[in-house]
Order: sequence, then C-alpha cells, then structure tokens
Amino acid sequence: MATLVTFHAHPDDECINCGGVMRKAADEGHRVVLVVATRGELGEVEDGFLDPGEDLTSRRVAETHAAAEVLGVARVAFLGYTDSGMMGEPTNDVSGTFWTAPVEEAAARLAAILTEEAADVLTIYDDNGGYGHPDHIQVHRVGTRAAELAGTPRVYQATANRDSIKAMQAAAQERGEAPVGPPEDFEIGKPEAELTARVDVTKYLDAKRAAMRAHASQISEDSFFLAIPDEAFGFAFGIEWFIRAGQGPGITETDIMAGL
Ligand SMILES: [Zn+2]
Repeated sequence: MATLVTFHAHPDDECINCGGVMRKAADEGHRVVLVVATRGELGEVEDGFLDPGEDLTSRRVAETHAAAEVLGVARVAFLGYTDSGMMGEPTNDVSGTFWTAPVEEAAARLAAILTEEAADVLTIYDDNGGYGHPDHIQVHRVGTRAAELAGTPRVYQATANRDSIKAMQAAAQERGEAPVGPPEDFEIGKPEAELTARVDVTKYLDAKRAAMRAHASQISEDSFFLAIPDEAFGFAFGIEWFIRAGQGPGITETDIMAGL
C-alpha cells in the first residue's frame, strides 16, 4: 500500500484530469490525498444557483469534498491561495493569487503535506498546465519544486493527448458532426510522442462522471462533460495520460502506482 498525492489548481480539475487514477488507486488499497491550490473563487455560476446568502467559495469547497468522497479520497487539503483567472486577466496580478505566489513559498506548503503523508507518488500538470491557465502552469512549477524539497520519488505530469484529441475532432467532422472539445487553435495537452504513461481508467468512468456531477456549480448537466453519450465520454475520458521525467521515449507505463 502506498500514498498518492494529487495536486490541482481549482476544484473540479481533479476529476477531469485524474479522477480515474484516483479511484483506481483507492480501489487498489492505496491512500489518496487531494491537494487543491485555490478554492476556485473566480468560477462562474448561473444566477439563482446559490442559496440566498451562500457564497461560491464555500459551495465549491463542499463540492470538492463530495467529489473526493466519490473518488475514494482519504484527505482533502487546500493550499490557501486564490484563483488567478484566465491568462491575461487583470485578476492574475491580485495579491494572494496562486499565480503571484513565490514558487518557493507555495512549494514549501505542498512539501509539508508530501512529507507528512510520506507520499510515494505525486501528480502535477505539464509545463503548460494542460492549456495555459496561469494557476495550472503554477501547479507544474510548484509541484516540481515541492517534490524536490520532500524527496517524493515519483512525479507524474497529468496532461492530454493532443494527437488523439485532434483525431477525434477530425473523425467527428468527417461524420458531419458539430465539433466537440477545444477549438482548433487552442493548444491543449502534449503530442503523443512526449507522453510516457497511458492509464486505462474505463472501469472507473462511472465514478469519474459522478465526481464531475458533484461539481454542479461549474459542470452543468448540459455541459460537454455530462451531456455527451456514455460511449463518447469513454473515448474522451477513458484514458488518462501522463509524463514522467526520465521515462520514455514513448509509453513505458500503464499504471502510476505500479509496483507499490
Ligand atoms: Zn483549473
């Protein structure tokens, strides 16, 4: 039995990026710890969604705990920074945001958790944070440094397979369907040649989707995540992709907890 610490920028990122490997690790008897840098303060919410007097931040914290339960998480921790908003927004520079946090300081906060948990495996994001969101890029920088500070042996960068997304979009276009997923000029994930781990999480798709559903303030029933048919959901979310520094070239691993 080992400990997996999975580090994310905002509530809901955990289930989209790593929901499958989290549930898989928990089912296999490992301890799963979720660390979220911010409480997703800048998420958008439809008018009337929140109860009178309720603020979005506390709703998102409650949603994170509900999703964590679905994913078999033993402990949820927030690093205490605030959401920086999308790249280029004036909110990027507000004091207290994760983007403005000195890497060394934020890494020390995460490293304290890694040390306390004697983490065997840490997941972070790729160096572009998957799609360029400042808080996601910061997860890469802070996570990399925290693993150095704590001596965490295995670090996996969660990412998306850009080639397979493009192929899926091209196939949909050929069938005459409306494009799904990110627009063509949106740089998402990494080319397949840079990926080193491919984890099949098909068995855990129900949990992954249920965890997304727990983040109802951000992921509505008519969103791409919840509205697409089960089969298409399986294609889009049935494989979780990672890069582990020093591995490869090519896919050399199919389980981030292998051998533990
Ligand atoms: Zn995010």
